[in-house]
Order: sequence, then structure tokens, then C-alpha cells
Amino acid sequence: MQRICINSWCAEAFEITDDDLACYKKLAPVIGGQTHELPLPDFCFSCRLQRRLAFYNSRSLYKRICDFSGKQVVSVFSPDKPFKVYDKDIWFSDAWNPLSYGRDFDFDRPFFSQFRELMEAVPQLAITHFGWENINSEFTNDNYKIKNCYLTFDGEQAEDCYYLHSFVMDKNCVDGVHLMLSELCYECVHCTQCYALRFARYSNNCSDSEFLRDCIGCKNCFGCANLRQKQYCIWNEQKTKQEYETFLQSFESSSHDVVQAMRKKAEDFFSRQPVKSMRGEQNQNVVGDNMNQSKNAHWCFDCYNQEDCRYTTNCMMPAKDLFDVHVWGDGLELAYDCCVIGADSRELFFDYAVASNCTDILYSTYCSQGCSHCFGCVGLRRSKYCIFNQQYSEEEYGKLVNRIIDHMRQAGEWGRFFPSEYSFFGYNETMAQTFFPLTKEECKKRGYRWCDYEAAIEATRTIPAAQLPDNSADIPDDILNWAIVCEVSKKPFKIIKQELDFYRTHRLSIPRRHPNQRHFDRYALKNPFKLFDRTCAKCSKAIQTSYAPDRPEIVYCEECYLKEVY
Ligand SMILES: [Zn+2]
Ligand SMILES: [Zn+2]
Repeated sequence: MQRICINSWCAEAFEITDDDLACYKKLAPVIGGQTHELPLPDFCFSCRLQRRLAFYNSRSLYKRICDFSGKQVVSVFSPDKPFKVYDKDIWFSDAWNPLSYGRDFDFDRPFFSQFRELMEAVPQLAITHFGWENINSEFTNDNYKIKNCYLTFDGEQAEDCYYLHSFVMDKNCVDGVHLMLSELCYECVHCTQCYALRFARYSNNCSDSEFLRDCIGCKNCFGCANLRQKQYCIWNEQKTKQEYETFLQSFESSSHDVVQAMRKKAEDFFSRQPVKSMRGEQNQNVVGDNMNQSKNAHWCFDCYNQEDCRYTTNCMMPAKDLFDVHVWGDGLELAYDCCVIGADSRELFFDYAVASNCTDILYSTYCSQGCSHCFGCVGLRRSKYCIFNQQYSEEEYGKLVNRIIDHMRQAGEWGRFFPSEYSFFGYNETMAQTFFPLTKEECKKRGYRWCDYEAAIEATRTIPAAQLPDNSADIPDDILNWAIVCEVSKKPFKIIKQELDFYRTHRLSIPRRHPNQRHFDRYALKNPFKLFDRTCAKCSKAIQTSYAPDRPEIVYCEECYLKEVY
């Protein structure tokens, strides 16, 4: 069945398949013995995703005051937000009681605006955290079990890493996205089990190489694409060890200008090498991109270990029976239209940041630690049968929730994620800006919030990036006290000692772009979460791929690609 997205600026046609319909049926929540049918979506996949992402601040961090202790803390909430914010140690303690903010539901008013009032009343957790310990990693968010990290987001179990987004188990990596089980990698995108790679993407089991794309098992290679188990190759040509070493010595990686010229040369070379229509390993019946070890997944992107999932994105830990979920999984089952959920939770609907053994939670945010049967709640832990942070008996809960759902259905609210205008954050602070970038004016037109707050940056000197010495060998230690003005966004940024040491040890030039700009640049190297119909450039077979038909890449179907790799 075809539908037209009701967002006026989108209005794209989208398909609801028979398998989708079966999923809506299977996932329909049962409350107090009553099954609540899920209405068919009015928004296309992209608009549904954008709506969830507009709630999700993974990477905008500020210093502000904890409203309980008065101490300065690091927080995802800028100081100008209308929320009370508590440091995580206090938030997870019994020093306050989220149920004391409970209130009755008013059947004369819509649900969403009442929910926003509750959000503004209940103290918020300073950072996105679910009660697990991170060591010496104050300036990070949305992480689990990390150590000595700085500005790392949405990841887990890393050590000595800086400026990573979406990562699992890395060591000593700087500037990367979707890095897994890797060490000493710099400026890498979607690399797994790699060691000492620089400027690489979509490569697995590679080491000591630079400028790779789609390589597996390669070592000592430079500027190569689609190679398998090769050594000493330059621009896909076999060289001797001697030739390779002489070439590498001539590459002055500590010079900014030399690296930029080489990046350009590599992109030009890559553009002439074919790409596979869909990237991923060990999948069975999977449609999407960057999918791994998954089974029966449809329109899923950047995920691992998904089973019977549809429209999931960036779930890097195992999950089953998800529909419209962004981040993260890990023993997660049966969830619909949620964002940032996981850790042995199940039956979650229209939730943001609900995790850690939670069951049967609807329209709630920041609930954790074994909550079950909660509706329209904010910031609960270990609670059961609550509505708007108020305690009910099991029987009362079922009756009242069923009434509220009927009320929401009449108002056209039921079956939709929270509207973006009720988000905790400005659109530009959220992951929506990464995947669907908009200007302030565009946001205003579409009714999104915008955050204008800019923290002051302390520095002894402010230097435009272009005035930095070309070679990092000529950069003085004093740079740690300087604010560098990003060459693109014009925003000032600083570098930290550990980072400077990394650049010096590995003979790398100093970045001239703000960490956020570097993040956007890396995402620009990734394809959108979208599939297009086009034909294989070799055999003309019809394929579905994240490469739009008007893009210049040479796209091959799986069979033709496998014949082509060396
Ligand atoms: Zn749309
Ligand atoms: Zn083909």
C-alpha cells in the first residue's frame, strides 16, 4: 500500500508492505487485557527517524550547575534550558523522589503538552547515562564502561579514545565513526578489527595502512580499494617492500597541505573503483546498508546482530523484533518507534532513553533500572504501574491507560512519537542535525526548537586555523592554551594534551576544523539511511542501494563485485 508523507516539506510517497502490516499487528501493545492497534504511519521512514532524532542529544555538552548540589557538572542541558538538572550521582540516589512530581491526567487537554509540563518539572539527568561507571571520562556522553576518553559519544568499552562517535571496544583511536575492536586508528569510518589505520573506511582486519576503502585483511597498503589479503600495494598496484617503504617515507603526514592533497587524490582514485550495492558481512535476508551478522532485517542501517527487525538504525548490539528504533539494543526485544533504548528491556513503545531491564513502558523518557508498566513517565527507577509519575494499582493502571490511549487516538496523538517541538533540546544540538542538517531559518519554519547558547572558551590566544604552522613539528606546546578558529564553521576549539601527543607520536598534522565539523565531515562520507532503485553498472541487474541514481560511483551488484575484488 502506498502513502504520502504528511510533512508538507517532504510529501514523499512511501510503501507499507504486507510484512510491515504483520509487524504492526504483532507489536500492538496489550494493556489490562485490551489490545491497542497501532495506526499506520503518516510519516515516511526518514521523517519518522528525524522526529526521534530531534529528541536525541548525544554530543552537545555544556558546563552547568547541578540544581541539587550547586556543583558545576558536565551536562547535555545548556544552562539556559528550563529544566532542573541533577548530577548523575544524585539523580540515581534516593536524595529525591521522582514520584513526588506525579500528577493527574487531564482529559480536557491533549497528552503531549501535559507531558512536556511533566518533563519541565521533573529533575533531569545531567548526561545520558544509565547508572554504569565510566572512568576519567568527564567530557563524554552516552557511553558505557569507558576509560580515559574525551568527547566520545554513543559507544562502549573504549580506552584512551578521543572524538569518536558510535564505537565498541577501541583503544587509542582518535577521530572516528563506527569503529569496532580497533586500535591506533585515526580518521576512520566503519572499520572493524583494524590496527594503525589512517584515513580508512569500510575496511576490516587491516593494519598499518593509509587511505583504504573496502579492504579486508590488508597490511602496509596505501591508497587502495577493494583489496583482499594484500601487502605493499600503492593505488592498488603491487610494489616491493623496498618500493613501499621509500614511498611511505616521502609522504610527509605531519604537513597539513600534503595530507589535504593526498585526501583529494585518494577520493579521486576511489571514485574510479567500484562499490558494492550493499555493505555488510554474514547477513541472511537483509535489506539495508552497513548491516552485519543479521537475519531477516528490512531497511536497516548501521546495525549488528539484528533479527526480525525493520527500519532500525545504529543498533550496534543484539536486538530482536524492533520496528523504527534508533540506538541501541543489547538484549532488547519488541520495541516500536523509540530512540536510545536497550539493555535487557522489552515491549517499549514511543520512548526516549529507556533502558536497563525495563518492560512495558509507553510514552516515557529517562526510565531505567527495572521499571515496568509505566505510561507517560519521566525519570523513574524501579517503578511499576505509574502514569504521569503517579502510582496506581495494577487494575487502576490498566483502566486509566486504556482511557488515555482512547483520548490520544481521538486527538491524533496515539501511535506517533513525541512531536519535535516538545524535545528537551534544540534541533541543532541533536542527532537530527547530523543526519538531516537544517539551518536556523529552516528549523523555525518547520517548528523545531533551536539552541543559541554558546559557551565561552578560555584561551590565551585566538588563532584562525589557516595561520597555524603547516607542519605539526613546528607547533609549540603552547597551542594547548590557544583557541583555534575552525576554517569552516568559524567556531573556536581547543586541543588537549593527549591529543597533541597522539599527533606528534604518529606524525599527524593538527586539525583545522572544530570537532563537530570533523564529525559532520565524516558523516558526509557515509551514505544516507535510504535505499534507491538503480541497476548494476556491470550486468544491468536491478539493485537496491544507498547510492542515489544520480551519484557518480560505479555501483555493482553483489555477484559482479565479488568477481571484481582482487
Ligand atoms: Zn517524509
Ligand atoms: Zn551485476
